[in-house]
Amino acid sequence: MIIEPRIRGFVCITAHPDGCAAKVASEIDYVRSNNMGADGPRKVLVIGASTGYGLSSRITAAFGYGAATLGIFFERPSVKGKPASPGWYNSVAFEKEAHKAGLYAKSINGDAFSDTIKDEAIKYIREDLGEVDLVIYSLASPRRTDPRNGETYRSVLKPIGKSYTNSNLDTDKGVVEPVEIEAASDEEVTSTIKVMGGEDWEWWMDALAQAGVLAQNAQTVAYSYIGPKLTWPIYTNGTIGNAKLDLERAARAIKDKHATPAFVSINKALVTQASSAIPVVPLYISMLFKLMKAKGNHEGCIEQIVRLFNDHLYSSNGPSLDDAGRIRVDDWEMDPAIQADIEKLWPQVNTDNLYQLTDYEGYQKDFLALFGFGLPGVDYSADVEPDRPIPSIPEELS
Ligand code: NAD
Repeated sequence: MIIEPRIRGFVCITAHPDGCAAKVASEIDYVRSNNMGADGPRKVLVIGASTGYGLSSRITAAFGYGAATLGIFFERPSVKGKPASPGWYNSVAFEKEAHKAGLYAKSINGDAFSDTIKDEAIKYIREDLGEVDLVIYSLASPRRTDPRNGETYRSVLKPIGKSYTNSNLDTDKGVVEPVEIEAASDEEVTSTIKVMGGEDWEWWMDALAQAGVLAQNAQTVAYSYIGPKLTWPIYTNGTIGNAKLDLERAARAIKDKHATPAFVSINKALVTQASSAIPVVPLYISMLFKLMKAKGNHEGCIEQIVRLFNDHLYSSNGPSLDDAGRIRVDDWEMDPAIQADIEKLWPQVNTDNLYQLTDYEGYQKDFLALFGFGLPGVDYSADVEPDRPIPSIPEELS
């Protein structure tokens, strides 16, 4: 079939297998072109491994250091001739390349919040790897079923206390207009912490420690975001920011319970499936990209993660931490000169000057690339088979 983008609001309901493979290949090439240090991860569990920051973490561990990787994700395979989700195609492409390079790579497609998937991961680690020395926690999910009480919680992206109004970009139509978001209820605040907070990360680490599959030198990292003051009401001081604070609590709890270094890394705002759903943020990202590209220090997920591994997790001095004990690879985004420009430009931006004042064009390109569209070297007019199974691992690597 010929697969074209079909955008519905802030998602694209189709994905292109060859385009996703081309994007994965370009991230692999980037990692290979970097001189990663000799010290690095050897056996890595990536929770949320199929797209965005988690996929780039898996690629960096595997192709930067030759690490074996076990990836967990929740993706949709192709059913009845319909394209699979991009994370599915990314993982097919990743595993093919990893196996070709002689690297152990296995994946589990299922709900990482469940006990079943935790048990399955531990079984694979025990049988195939013995232990893991790095655990990446990179989930972004709208809901979580707590396996201990059976209840399903939904996360919301809302301010706390009072409603919030700001300029918002309708990324589908290219229109800038004010949006008002009502304040979250107490229940919504609690539910968002349940979904996007640190409890599940802690439970993963408890399960791995109890099973005796954490290496002595193991460390773990989860990803978070802070961003500029203008998005604080909807992000940092909103429901999601509260959940991210809970991630920091969980990092301290993991360290205390298991003596395993546990870090929260504050990453840059980037176009991913998760961030495109947050009100106001896509307009900020478009403006940020314009300024950072002009300054020559724009990065995508893969550049961010290579820097995280090189300069922090596997640097000979260990990670440098801010006053609150967090790793900051958002440092270039938060550069006061960049942020001063954002504050100056923000009140001026409207639908008419969107392409002049922001990199909306770059935003759209990155958004389409998430789904495997617009990649160089891919023939989008060609007939492609949408059903691509995740390859089984060659015997000699398992
Ligand atoms: P993403 O949407 O690209 O990736 C989410 C991953 O989680 C996918 O692999 C998906 O399959 C997996 N997933 C979702 N629900 C799951 C479930 N129930 N079971 C198993 N896997 C599941 O998101 P992203 O933007 O890369 O976000 C990853 C982390 O990075 C999040 O914690 C996010 O807050 C953080 N972060 C993102 C940004 C940004 O701008 N995108 C910036 C800083 C930090």
